[in-house]
Amino acid sequence: MSEMTKFVSSEQAGPRFDVAVVGAGIVGLAHALAAARAGLRVVVIERDLRANGASIRNFGFITVTGQARGEIWRQARRARDVWGEIAPRAGIAVEHHGLVLNLRRPESVAVAEAFLATEMGEGCELLAVTELKQRYPEIAAPDALGALYSPHELRVDSPSALPRLVDWLARDYGVVFRTGEAVLNVAPPVIETSRGAVFAERAVVCPGDDFATLFPERIEAYRPRRCRLTMLRLADPGFRWPAGVMSDLGLTRYRGYADLPEAQALKRRLEAEQGPHLANGVHLIAVQNADGSLVVGDSHHYDDLPAPFAPAEAETLILDEFEQATGLVPPPVLARWTGVYASSDERGYFVDAPSPEVRLVMVTSGTGASTAFAIGEATIADLCGVPAPVPAPAR
Ligand SMILES: Cc1cc2nc3c(=O)[nH]c(=O)nc-3n(C[C@H](O)[C@H](O)[C@H](O)COP(=O)(O)OP(=O)(O)OC[C@H]3O[C@@H](n4cnc5c(N)ncnc54)[C@H](O)[C@@H]3O)c2cc1C
Repeated sequence: MSEMTKFVSSEQAGPRFDVAVVGAGIVGLAHALAAARAGLRVVVIERDLRANGASIRNFGFITVTGQARGEIWRQARRARDVWGEIAPRAGIAVEHHGLVLNLRRPESVAVAEAFLATEMGEGCELLAVTELKQRYPEIAAPDALGALYSPHELRVDSPSALPRLVDWLARDYGVVFRTGEAVLNVAPPVIETSRGAVFAERAVVCPGDDFATLFPERIEAYRPRRCRLTMLRLADPGFRWPAGVMSDLGLTRYRGYADLPEAQALKRRLEAEQGPHLANGVHLIAVQNADGSLVVGDSHHYDDLPAPFAPAEAETLILDEFEQATGLVPPPVLARWTGVYASSDERGYFVDAPSPEVRLVMVTSGTGASTAFAIGEATIADLCGVPAPVPAPAR
């Protein structure tokens, strides 16, 4: 029991909440949404003035196709539906739909064909090169052999979407946001913070890549690492981007493809042809903002202490892959940034129970924007004994 727990009684406290959520990143907000929709009184406590980490530095690419087969893929489908449902209510614009993954090697076509033969391929198509050039002439590389098309994805602009989500949760569900307040200890009903105590029956801790502040020994058991990504914003290419765009490199990175046996031959070829890209964890995602600018990335460097500097080599390699995959000369770079997320080779996320009233939730695969709403629903159902929403039948 901490000092704070000893001397603050619940009678002294302000409102008592059903659920306290620590962290206002997308994972925390997803839990706040699930709890609020179950009719619970919710407080979110965030140490920054608002989310400023992975959740607003990402592509905002709500990705279904390519997610790891099984649970994560199913979560992504459910979370995509939640995004689709709440975006208009919260005033969040969906910038574009779908995914075009350009295929430039026969080995990539073989992976796409194998993918389409699985249950994950439902609704997706293999576009022959003529069809690719007809449907998406602006982004078809001269040496493209075709493309994998998926209709399932959504793209939101996270830096504007998250504040809108916060406003909507506060306005329509009465969720209370306490910002600029660090949580120091979680022992319901007392949540000890840098500004005093908050009282809640239960708590969900969603600390992103902070492994040191709350339940560090519990987090350590899952052996997460930190992964640093390099991101770019490029000037408007002069046309509406038709969908999220990816390239061959994504087929060996995203587990929904990479775990297929056919990916091995592609991996060998990419190792021979694009060693520096693989060494820097570079693959391509390119999406568009409402103002026409593109968000393009990324690289992956794993380190317990992520370096503060974006490596120039990674930028060069990302721009090279953009040009190879789309046939476009990259528009000028307008902005550069890095982002860090929790990562694990062993699992895509974990939900730990430090006590019956507390859950610790961490997405460890760089997929939080795509899966958090589904994880939030399941965690709140388990923690609070409320029924999980029934997902609509798979489309
Ligand atoms: C560059 C980049 C690109 C990405 N692209 C995509 C993408 O396109 N699609 C996708 O699905 N995923 C993507 N991801 C992954 C996704 O962004 C993350 O999985 C997700 O944002 C993690 O959300 P989070 O809420 O756990 O973490 P965070 O966003 O880091 O939020 C955690 C919050 O908790 C707060 N906090 C921590 N400890 C405390 C404490 N003790 N007290 C109070 N507050 C605390 C922090 O201040 C922080 O605001 C990307 C990530 C990066 C970095």
